[in-house]
Amino acid sequence: METNRYTVTEETLRRFDKPGPRYTSYPTAVEFHAGVDEAAYRDRLAKADACGPDAPLSFYTHLPFCEHRCLFCGCHVVITRNLDIGAKYLDYLKREIDLVASLLSKRRTVAQLQWGGGTPTYFTPDQLGDLLGHFKKYFTFESDAEIAVEVDPRVTTTEHLDCLVELGFNRLSMGVQDLTPEVQEAITRNQTVEQTRAMIEYARKVGFTEGINFDLIYGLPRQQLETFDKNLGQVIELRPDRVAVYSFAYVPWIKGHQKKLDKEELPSPDLKFKLYLMAMERFLEAGYEPIGMDHFALPEDELAQAARNRRLYRNFMGYTVKPASDMIALGVSGIGDVQRGYFQNEKKLSAYYAAIDDGRLPVSKGYLLDEDDRIRRYVITQLMCNFHVRKAKVAELFGIAFDDYFAVSLERLQEPIEAGFVEVTGDAVTVTDAGRLFVRNVCMAFDRYLEAKQRDKPIFSRTV
Ligand code: SF4
Repeated sequence: METNRYTVTEETLRRFDKPGPRYTSYPTAVEFHAGVDEAAYRDRLAKADACGPDAPLSFYTHLPFCEHRCLFCGCHVVITRNLDIGAKYLDYLKREIDLVASLLSKRRTVAQLQWGGGTPTYFTPDQLGDLLGHFKKYFTFESDAEIAVEVDPRVTTTEHLDCLVELGFNRLSMGVQDLTPEVQEAITRNQTVEQTRAMIEYARKVGFTEGINFDLIYGLPRQQLETFDKNLGQVIELRPDRVAVYSFAYVPWIKGHQKKLDKEELPSPDLKFKLYLMAMERFLEAGYEPIGMDHFALPEDELAQAARNRRLYRNFMGYTVKPASDMIALGVSGIGDVQRGYFQNEKKLSAYYAAIDDGRLPVSKGYLLDEDDRIRRYVITQLMCNFHVRKAKVAELFGIAFDDYFAVSLERLQEPIEAGFVEVTGDAVTVTDAGRLFVRNVCMAFDRYLEAKQRDKPIFSRTV
């Protein structure tokens, strides 16, 4: 298999296409355990509060409701058309905001807020306004705060967009996945080009002049080179500021509804790789710049500027230029990152409600990072975001000699080095252009937990 920029043999592809984490966190959520409880979370929130008023916070709010399930979906969702269930959830969410705010009396500025789901615009504009109004009773946005929301063009109305602009939202993330009708039929998500175009045009008209992001997926059932190419052409014509091109995470052992997808219709690893290359080449040709492993942005977008300067960061919400030191998650299943600890909220509505009724933060499990975790997290984050880690910087930050500390990892890198995916010099570890898709494999060499976890049963999706 060959393209003008990247050459990867099928044998190499087979060798590197193995289950691996996406590294939205390190250690990954697989390491979370119930020993990290509410008391631990309160303790870390108190430490976060002690950082004082000059340290802005990030917030993620999970709004889990959708009217229908899309078969490919990997999110934590509640499928219902019963609006009372949603209204009850918002009441509890506001009570969770009260609880968290009561522990953060000194720290009230916000650099980043994201509403994700589910489908945030499942709720009415009035409900969304009420929720944000409640949040703003306690917290103040910085003047250049990033206020983002995921929108589904199938259910988001012009009234929603008017309301979101008025509330101060400045980023829209639109689920698109693939505009090809046969693919949409296979994943039970029907969303026409016209719907998507109408939404982006209206969004721009009312004030989202930048900050429109599309999510696409490669590796879905029935995807073919020809139709995928057409789909990419349609997306490029709409000119979103950013595009995420995610590899489909086929994990039917975790997401039972994915069993309804016809396995025979999934693209082979070889085709999947070609789809990825096609996306990369089409976006580069169209003037987008590559961001991390699977994002693209127009050159004037701040993510592209940060990537050029190797100043990109990543948290549970994705790539960012705003690395707030603490990220607090609100809502069912949300995962926060506070003072060197990860904390995940209850996944079941009933358990989430019960905790709040008891006046408890609804945390169900988490993980507290030790020094080794922090060192490895730094290295993995640098590789995932900037494809480069400077050994001297790691030494400066953590007081270790890189080559000694990572002797085992460097040995494990031999395979990707031989494949031309990574270069190790006396100064740095650098992922090559050809290795971008395989950056997860490179990071896996630095992961202390992986071997023990992979032995027994499948956990992670495949890296290609
Ligand atoms: S709309 Fe989004 S969150 Fe809801 S089921 Fe479909 S993919 Fe999942």
